[in-house]
Amino acid sequence: MLLTISTTATPATDLGFLLHKHPDRVQEFGQSFGTATVFYPEADESRCTAALLLDVDPIALVRSRGKNSPDFSLSQYVNDRPYAASSLLAVALGDVFRTARAGRCVARPELPGRAMPLEIRLPALPCRGGPSLAERLFTPLGWAVEAEAVPLDEGFPEWGDSRYVRLTLRGDVRLADALNHLYVLLPVLDDGKHYWVAPDEVDKLVRAGEGWLYGHPERGLIMRRYLGRRWSLARTALARLAELGDETEEQLEPAVAEEPEAGETAADELAATEAASEAEPGTEAEPAAEGEPGAEDPKPKSLNTRRREAVLATLEELGVTTVIDLGCGQGELVGALLSRPRFARVAGMDVSPMALTIAARKLRLERMPDSKRARLSLFQGALTYTDKRLTGYDAAVLMEVVEHVDPPRLAALEHVVFGHARPQHVLVTTPNVEYNPRYEFLTGLRHSDHRFEWTRAEFTAWATGVAERNGYQVAFRPVGDDDPEVGPPTQMGVFTR
Ligand code: SAH
Repeated sequence: MLLTISTTATPATDLGFLLHKHPDRVQEFGQSFGTATVFYPEADESRCTAALLLDVDPIALVRSRGKNSPDFSLSQYVNDRPYAASSLLAVALGDVFRTARAGRCVARPELPGRAMPLEIRLPALPCRGGPSLAERLFTPLGWAVEAEAVPLDEGFPEWGDSRYVRLTLRGDVRLADALNHLYVLLPVLDDGKHYWVAPDEVDKLVRAGEGWLYGHPERGLIMRRYLGRRWSLARTALARLAELGDETEEQLEPAVAEEPEAGETAADELAATEAASEAEPGTEAEPAAEGEPGAEDPKPKSLNTRRREAVLATLEELGVTTVIDLGCGQGELVGALLSRPRFARVAGMDVSPMALTIAARKLRLERMPDSKRARLSLFQGALTYTDKRLTGYDAAVLMEVVEHVDPPRLAALEHVVFGHARPQHVLVTTPNVEYNPRYEFLTGLRHSDHRFEWTRAEFTAWATGVAERNGYQVAFRPVGDDDPEVGPPTQMGVFTR
């Protein structure tokens, strides 16, 4: 997939400063799903073009699973979206041009504030809704839009058009705005985001959409598509954009800028993303228990935070120094483990390339000091296939993961974790379904991807069986407020060999 950005500003080579990428160099940026390359097909005083080429490598993804892992069994988690979606182009653009998107330029601080003559070309953009939708989305933002359907086959016009559009945008726009328009609207046009829309997508949308999205005539469609048709998330986003809507653009600019360092301020970031989440009621804020140090802290701790803290405290208590987080998601626990020097080796594994991409970005993998980087491995894998990479750790954590696995595959998971990897300790957390009636607006399970949620008795029965069959002892601990009637919101099993 290819995107080019050209300018005829004088000098046109200012584009290199703004993008923070030198026009003389070809630079590659590894993404978990392939490689993003930035180069300049032309760069002189009168015209300068930067190109972002995204090479998605499905073969490498498949091969990295090992020869005994049939990929069809993974199809429920990994479908063609990661390979076909232009949301990947948006992810790569967001990552590679993060500083430019935030409107920062240390070398030439005056540049980002200026609109400049830009021409953006996307020769083949997946576009559900065709050229007219592309026009409806970009025209209100000040772009002159040229959108043309790409025929399925040039030689057979009667076959009709493909779902791809050749798109050219021209306008006098600030580069940061242009990048944010693309960051939000490319996945919207594609309308096929990865199945798992994380709660922090609301934050990304609010940040990238500041100053233009709230007033956009198609904002409803944009938000619904961007957030995977999750109305609750769209409402949250809208409310927050409305709060920001009246500010001037200058005031808004700095808010786009910073992503906190993983580890140090990850908790703040989490709190922010959790506040935006209606997806899983477990992420709603709850008051801190009395007597906790958090009592003087006005911000109540969310269940996510308390769960992570419970897992960290248990690992410290067990005295382990090497930990693998299985189904690590966006890497929040991995980040917390890395920030504690006592954990000498930390690994994160997940089946979702998109989750790993987000994790790598949140952990700032590319900028991580070597000493820290050396303690970490992050890789794609599935919990239902034996894998040598899972062996050799003191402890494994499965935090809110078992309930994402189809019940018939639980025996395979048991074999992989308790039979094959066999760490000294395994920590498993999972929702306690008995607690669900305590969530006011919840109908059904806590998350759309949950295959089941267990009662305390069901979890105990499963865990006890696993322990007996594999030579482990298991103890149970509540996480969150232990309700006298229905128990805690989260249950944790601590297995020891
Ligand atoms: N442990 C994280 C994420 C929980 S969400 C946290 O507590 O925040 C569940 C995660 O499990 C998702 O990231 C999903 O991609 C992953 N997952 C689901 N099935 C999996 C499987 N079979 N193998 C590995 N990871 C899996």
